[in-house]
Amino acid sequence: MIQVEEALSIIEQNSYKLPVRKLKVSKSLDYVLAEAVYAPIDMPPFRQSAMDGYAFIYGDAKKFEVVNKSKAGSYSNVKIKENQAIRIFTGAYIPDGLDTVVMQEHVAVLNGKIEIKQFPNKFANVRDKGEQIKKDELVLDKNTVINTAAIGFLTCLGITEILVYSKPNVAILVTGNELIKPGKKLPKGKIYESNSVMLEVALQKIGITKVKVFSVKDSLIATKKILKECLLKFDVVLVSGGISVGDYDFVKEALLSNGVEELFYKVNQKPGKPLFFGKKKEALVFGLPGNPASTLSSFYIYVLPALRKRMGFESIHLQKIQREIETDFINNSGKTLFLKALYNDQNVRVLESQSSAMLNTFAVANGLICLPFNKVQYNKGEKVDVIPFNV
Ligand code: AMP
Ligand code: MG
Repeated sequence: MIQVEEALSIIEQNSYKLPVRKLKVSKSLDYVLAEAVYAPIDMPPFRQSAMDGYAFIYGDAKKFEVVNKSKAGSYSNVKIKENQAIRIFTGAYIPDGLDTVVMQEHVAVLNGKIEIKQFPNKFANVRDKGEQIKKDELVLDKNTVINTAAIGFLTCLGITEILVYSKPNVAILVTGNELIKPGKKLPKGKIYESNSVMLEVALQKIGITKVKVFSVKDSLIATKKILKECLLKFDVVLVSGGISVGDYDFVKEALLSNGVEELFYKVNQKPGKPLFFGKKKEALVFGLPGNPASTLSSFYIYVLPALRKRMGFESIHLQKIQREIETDFINNSGKTLFLKALYNDQNVRVLESQSSAMLNTFAVANGLICLPFNKVQYNKGEKVDVIPFNV
């Protein structure tokens, strides 16, 4: 049995980045950039008006004759004199030499002439060429996680393809004779299978959508067979249940007989002690204890960092915050505890039910308090580590 920190470090050492690939920018949400991207053009590509109004040459004149028009999308590089102006609209080309735009709300218009009532500063309402970014400047650095705005930014520069790290294909294998799919009437002795849905949505939330769910009865032969297929076809295999020491827990044996190298089995923690981590070639395997709260906290603490590493994330470590515990607490279990908790800006409260079989308080928690195995007494108001979960 190993400690939590050691388990996390083994995961980090053994999770490799997936290969890089070219991808359409429009499909790149949540991928990690595998190259720095530089601007192929200036943005804006020309001097633009930031307002609907009138462009003119800044000087002493207050009244102008309106001699031309520039609409968004049109190009006309007219020349005008000091007491002339052109009608202009947001995003439209500003002819060379004109340096200032007055918004239309600040002028009086009469017979093709304008009088400026509220004079703008010189250069007002002009978006300079390359004001946002100049050609060859850095757009996004390597290892940036692509978000919605990044997709817009790349696209406005005319970039249609980028190099990213691949996202893993994930297999979820649920084990257990007692499990049936929700939607059917519950026969005696059975329970609804819920871990696969929970894992699937947690994966979706971090942008992993290539997920396939398999299920298998508590049979060594059947588990071996299905794991063989999963290990061949998927980058990460998440097995739910069957990893403990019961007579019908066959997952560990089935993994080892398939040539999976055991990297650790059992972590000194609660919940989720019988956690298994291994690899076969490039594929990573987690044997997650089947109790739903164990499955989910193991996902947050161990599976997420492994997935992040595979996806090319720079920082894969758990983000911990510190909060003051609301009541005294004793941890005399000798294990590291991950407690379902509710935190606010200052405090954190340990929620009522901490059973690994129950999700009732997990469903309203917003973080896990992490209490190390080697400290017993916590006094009210003492700072403790909290792992927020936003997945
Ligand atoms: P196991 O890890 O297979 O010993 O399962 C531990 C507990 O978790 C048992 O009470 C199982 O019925 C329950 N369990 C296992 N897998 C699931 C699942 N996919 N959905 C809901 N409960 C499960
Ligand atoms: Mg089982």
